[in-house]
Amino acid sequence: MVAVSATAKTYTQMTLDAKIPQGPLAEKWNKHKFNLKLVNPANKRKYDVIIVGTGLAGASAAASLAELGYNVKAFCFQDSPRRAHSIAAQGGINAAKNYRNDGDSVYRLFYDTIKGGDYRAREANVYRLAEVSVNIIDQCVAQGVPFAREYGGLLDNRSFGGAQVSRTFYARGQTGQQLLLGAYSALNRQINAGKVKLYTRTEMLDVVLIDGHAKGIVTRNLKTGEIETHAGHAVLLATGGYGNVFYLSTNAIGSNVTAAWRAHKRGAYFSNPCYTQIHPTCIPVTGSHQSKLTLMSESLRNDGRVWAPKTVAIAEQLRKGQIKASQVKEEDRDYFLERKYPSFGNLVPRDVASRNAKEMVDEGRGVGGSGFAVFLDFAEAIQRLGKDTVAAKYGNLFDMYYQITDEDPYTQPMRIYPAVHYTMGGLWVDYNLMTTIPGLYAMGECNFSDHGANRLGASALMQGLADGYFVIPYTVGDYLATIGPKPVDKNHPAFEEARQNVIANVNKLLSLKGTKTVVEYHRELGHIVWEYCGMARTEEGLTKALGLIKELKADFWKNALIVGKNEELNASLERAGRVADFIELGELMVTDALMRRESCGGHFRLESQTPEGEALRDDDNFAFVAAWEYKGENQPEELHKEELVFENVHLTQRSYK
Ligand SMILES: Cc1cc2nc3c(=O)[nH]c(=O)nc-3n(C[C@H](O)[C@H](O)[C@H](O)COP(=O)(O)OP(=O)(O)OC[C@H]3O[C@@H](n4cnc5c(N)ncnc54)[C@H](O)[C@@H]3O)c2cc1C
Repeated sequence: MVAVSATAKTYTQMTLDAKIPQGPLAEKWNKHKFNLKLVNPANKRKYDVIIVGTGLAGASAAASLAELGYNVKAFCFQDSPRRAHSIAAQGGINAAKNYRNDGDSVYRLFYDTIKGGDYRAREANVYRLAEVSVNIIDQCVAQGVPFAREYGGLLDNRSFGGAQVSRTFYARGQTGQQLLLGAYSALNRQINAGKVKLYTRTEMLDVVLIDGHAKGIVTRNLKTGEIETHAGHAVLLATGGYGNVFYLSTNAIGSNVTAAWRAHKRGAYFSNPCYTQIHPTCIPVTGSHQSKLTLMSESLRNDGRVWAPKTVAIAEQLRKGQIKASQVKEEDRDYFLERKYPSFGNLVPRDVASRNAKEMVDEGRGVGGSGFAVFLDFAEAIQRLGKDTVAAKYGNLFDMYYQITDEDPYTQPMRIYPAVHYTMGGLWVDYNLMTTIPGLYAMGECNFSDHGANRLGASALMQGLADGYFVIPYTVGDYLATIGPKPVDKNHPAFEEARQNVIANVNKLLSLKGTKTVVEYHRELGHIVWEYCGMARTEEGLTKALGLIKELKADFWKNALIVGKNEELNASLERAGRVADFIELGELMVTDALMRRESCGGHFRLESQTPEGEALRDDDNFAFVAAWEYKGENQPEELHKEELVFENVHLTQRSYK
């Protein structure tokens, strides 16, 4: 139940008020910015803002807020903001610049994103995202981000899935790295100016609430074990996604859910945890020795053609190594995406491409030693464009593939298979990016907003930077102006209570002297969620998974082995806390997936599909955002619903044919 209100200025919300401004879609953000309260420039230095996470969302927010004059404390668990997972982003960032004059517009980017998300995102948020996308590119160019350019000097674009226009800006296959270096330089400027204090190798383990408002955090110094508290007038989380709940994913090894989960346990609702993006083009799993998977960027689908052998017999020969892919005749190849989706071809959205690859494997037409792969073939592109052009566009990705597989993608097609990549779910936020805890905000991948049930490629970088550079600097000011600059009382007992809570948790973990390593638990959890809450889900499988996760949790707290002590660099302890949180999150993911008896985007319930095998939504019963409220240890969480209102787009069965 959402009360839609444009001007509500109460910050004691516990009901789900998305605070979507009234008025026409295209005017909402501008009007809202005007209605938001401002903090007088001379007063800004009286406010302290805590930002946890210095990836694209966090670094851009920290730099922008410090530039405005606020005092910022920024935290990350790596040794440098440059090691945030954002650095791994390869393919590009979307923006509705229409440089190609191919029919793009803010409205089209909005529409593609709503449709791509299978009509499970908020219209107002998505429109704002499309609107500010154009500013992001200007901002980054001004910082010196070396986007690829055409011969004449204009910024180049390429296509990504779910769109029929070219709107993806890129810097070879290293777009995230270049964008992060831009945000990092802006951040450094403010560190040098004394407006940002940076805490590296510091992990946030709890939020401090005073009178229901977020007023600080508890952290553990990962080198010394020191457990400290930090006070601020507002706390902003930009802590990334939780794809590593699956153990194997394309995320950086350190990516985790702990900050968001601890905030959840303090009262921040968690939304749509079952919406996971499984990316179609990753290097296939080779065995249980692996600790992570590698993405082959979606940009490769601009020129690479996806295919599987037409018959099981040919697939069998390929699997046994009796023939090579290049020996399979043209008429024996099934370019299944081009065949089934002639309009979008290889550039269908990720959920659709992934499901189709799985279908090939399920039919026995998978390739590679394990049979869990299809081909991504560049032979035609190399013939058409020449090897040099292909190398200039995708060289680093081809090198990466070669180094990992020892196969040359210039002469043999790549073998690819879907893998966990991104999480659309996350902390529930209103239009201002505030969670259900007043003063606690969530930005970037750690919030649930904007992508619905399936994110389009190149839209995560856009959202992270939109949140950090262009949304939060306005919306947090409104809250700060409302509460006033009175210093936060660091002697309030809530700080010590939260610190003791963290100490008790650390000690509890360290007391576990069982026989199984934390990594083993993580791997088992990953297996359960992948098997039953992965690409295809059923009532029966999910019910089974729920039982298995409960058993795993009980076993963890009895038999886990955590070595070492708190007062040292202790990877075993760090991992233990994160895995314990992943196990609880896994339970909520499965609960959410069980509740949502429809298919939409990345959430595919086998019981709910069209005759052609596409995701079949149930708009009458499920056109809502699920927001889960934590009710205490081992208690079932309570479901709240934010009904989604579509005034500008017509809900239809998604088609990319
Ligand atoms: C291989 C790969 C390629 C991708 N390519 C693209 C692409 O081409 N285009 C695109 O749009 N998207 C892409 N994505 C998605 C995109 O990279 C991410 O969604 C995005 O970078 C997330 O940014 P973020 O700022 O939200 O979080 P992150 O970059 O993950 O940063 C999280 C930050 O939070 C900190 N943190 C987390 N927990 C804590 C804690 N408890 N205490 C202290 N600090 C904490 C970390 O230290 C880090 O600084 C890709 C993803 C992957 C996996």
